[in-house]
Amino acid sequence: MLKVNAAITILLENSRRLVQSEEINLIDATGRALACDIIAPIDVPPADNSAMDGYAIRFNDWSDAQTGIPMSQRVTAGSVPTELIPGSAARIFTGAEVPPGADTVVMQEHCEEVEGGVRILKQPALGANIRRRGQDLSTGQKVLAAGQRLRAQDLGLAASLGIARVPVFRRLKVAVMSTGDELREPGDDIQPGQIYNSNRYTMKSQLAAWGCEVVDLGVARDDPERVSEMMLLAAERADVIISSGGVSVGEEDHVKAVVDELGAIDLWRIAIKPGKPFAFGQVRGTPFIGLPGNPVSVFVTLLVIARPYLFACQGIADTAVQPVRHTALFEKKASPREDYLRVRATDSGVELFSNQSSGVLFSTTWGDGLVRQKPDEEIQEGALVDFIPYAIFN
Ligand code: AMP
Ligand code: MG
Repeated sequence: MLKVNAAITILLENSRRLVQSEEINLIDATGRALACDIIAPIDVPPADNSAMDGYAIRFNDWSDAQTGIPMSQRVTAGSVPTELIPGSAARIFTGAEVPPGADTVVMQEHCEEVEGGVRILKQPALGANIRRRGQDLSTGQKVLAAGQRLRAQDLGLAASLGIARVPVFRRLKVAVMSTGDELREPGDDIQPGQIYNSNRYTMKSQLAAWGCEVVDLGVARDDPERVSEMMLLAAERADVIISSGGVSVGEEDHVKAVVDELGAIDLWRIAIKPGKPFAFGQVRGTPFIGLPGNPVSVFVTLLVIARPYLFACQGIADTAVQPVRHTALFEKKASPREDYLRVRATDSGVELFSNQSSGVLFSTTWGDGLVRQKPDEEIQEGALVDFIPYAIFN
């Protein structure tokens, strides 16, 4: 069976960016993948300005200023100063541009206003309290890279450069379908033999959080005809198809056979726990990801296996996930598959949820992340393990 890393690599090798770029307003760009590098068009700040409320002087005038020098102008933030008359001081406020000729700002706490002027009580350092033009960003500097997902601070940075519109990749359209005769929707009554469809909600919510546009196709009954119809519709309407259930080995598992007939299954079964029956292929040329049916398997394989592929399809450059090392507060026998354990982090280490069954969805909400247990490696209590907080998958 294919190892987890090998499966991720195969998916990535088969991936290509499926979306064109578009230009949108900066204010709407949170979470979107940047389509081009952003180069600073101006210096930030655009001019030397004061870091303090105080008095701007020429440093050479400092000794005269001990006894008092006249105040020749008042510069507030947003106003334009004039050349500082030698032997005088300018009253200045935080963010105000430093008058040409002034080279030092003395904070007001070190000054005393006197009749018509100001006395400086403490020797300043040359150049003190001046924020230099371009000290944050300088013209021509690459400030944001193509392929990065824009965060709050990235939007702020672009705004500081006066950039109002940004080139981003169009949202990836992902068709989502669930399979199973037993499924009913929340809000409906359930009869004996039926359960509520949870995978649909897990998948839609996670995909939306990753910036995808979800084409929700609902549920296909366990009938090859129905599955086939829905697959063809999905292939037509979306960039990528994701299904849950029906990819295992039971007689009512039709997804794999249908995809094989309409397109191809290129990969099936991964040495991962939970989530072994994961499938990957295409339907009429549209990439297909077949998640298992068990709700925890859906969640784990979506995060671990599908995520890097979906990111690459969206034009996101960095798809890697970096676990953090944390102390195991439990022991766990070795298993031949790579096991993603649902855990909760505490100050002293990570605790294991008591039931690691792939059907126990509560294991995913009880805690904060997954511990990756490598195949054939036992976890001893007190050992350092790879912990991946859920937030890292965002
Ligand atoms: P399957 O792979 O279709 O045999 O499904 C495996 C298990 O997951 C079965 O117990 C199904 O009832 C359950 N399951 C499949 N799809 C869903 C779903 N959308 N929501 C909740 N449970 C599901
Ligand atoms: Mg099923």
